[in-house]
Amino acid sequence: MTEPRPTLRLLAGRHKRLASGHPWIFSNEIAMDAAAKSLAPGSVVTVAAADSRKLGTAFFNPHSLIAGRLLSPDPDAVIDAPFFEARLRSALALRDSLYERPFYRAVHSEADDLPGLIVDRFGDVLGVQINTAGMERCLDVLLEAFDRVFAPRAVVLRNDSGVRALEGLEKYVRVARGEINPPIEVEEGGAHFFIDPLAGQKTGWFFDQRDNRAFMASLAKNKRVADFYSYAGGFAIRAALAGAQDVHAFDSSETALKFARLAAERNAVSSTCKFERAEAFAELEKLRRAGERFELVICDPPAFIKSRKDVNSGAKGYRKLARLAAAITAPSGFLFVASCSHHMEPARFAEEVHRGIAAAGRSARVIRQSGASPDHPIHPFLPESAYLKAEVLQLD
Ligand code: SAH
Repeated sequence: MTEPRPTLRLLAGRHKRLASGHPWIFSNEIAMDAAAKSLAPGSVVTVAAADSRKLGTAFFNPHSLIAGRLLSPDPDAVIDAPFFEARLRSALALRDSLYERPFYRAVHSEADDLPGLIVDRFGDVLGVQINTAGMERCLDVLLEAFDRVFAPRAVVLRNDSGVRALEGLEKYVRVARGEINPPIEVEEGGAHFFIDPLAGQKTGWFFDQRDNRAFMASLAKNKRVADFYSYAGGFAIRAALAGAQDVHAFDSSETALKFARLAAERNAVSSTCKFERAEAFAELEKLRRAGERFELVICDPPAFIKSRKDVNSGAKGYRKLARLAAAITAPSGFLFVASCSHHMEPARFAEEVHRGIAAAGRSARVIRQSGASPDHPIHPFLPESAYLKAEVLQLD
């Protein structure tokens, strides 16, 4: 059954970026006539240049600034369960070449040619975020494709991200397939963690920090480690398993700490790990005054910058964090600071961290700059999708 598909016509000259590989069409590039405006948000359309040349198949949302998101350069592509199945299989093939165990970000939106779809795989449970009206309209066929590719025991829709408002979508959380009884277990680097895909941060686990956790763990042997914003214990437990002398971890969420303590028991590192409820800045000040020093200090805060207008105040936050953390880093010790705010440019982030360390009266050298793990690929034309930035420095 094929329905007649509407055509979205671009303004003269506005086809070039799309033709060169960029996946988005902005609303001011479209001949926004009454017919286009009346299309339901998330409609599948054929995209045509001003001269009627067909350019591909896209999702269209007349109310969004990013009005078109290319699904395929084929103007006649049928967007059904087999279409999604093929895309999911390609995404899965990449993860299969990266990881042995089924715990990773399985789909990372545009970079996996699935605009507005995020899927985290926790063994046989999928944590899904849908961020575009187009994907939301495809939910039924998507679920069918998930069944065929992943055969999940349960699928959780964590559709509670703020970005949904830009697409006119409501927020909701529900179990779309099967049932779950949180917490569920996640494996990473040989360690086991507990998460709640219904109520945890984002989808429940931050796979993006996997390689950064491994790197910090590689420095941890016989060291005193402090982990701020520890969440469910990712950095802390991997450092403890790598032979840290002791690990002091802090988070403001009692639920996160409960899961972290459970994980410490599960991994048999309870005797070296201590998880405490604390506000990070206040605790950093307290430890500095008490003369506590750590050879490894890890700071992985939530996004300090939620919108473009907060860039300057957020930047000050990262500088302050680096200053306070540097003050409790032992001579020759290592400091890790990350930012997951995509409004914070990598160069600016590095500058703020370096200024903060200098303000603490310390000199340092950068030994590693990194982003997210490779199960979070970056679309080459969307550098802004490289949201995670991390710096590791050795302090004098
Ligand atoms: N490092 C974690 C992820 C951190 S997510 C990992 O590797 O998985 C951010 C965490 O910061 C959340 O668990 C949240 O509860 C905590 N948080 C937010 N504001 C905080 C504050 N002011 N002080 C301490 N923790 C805070």
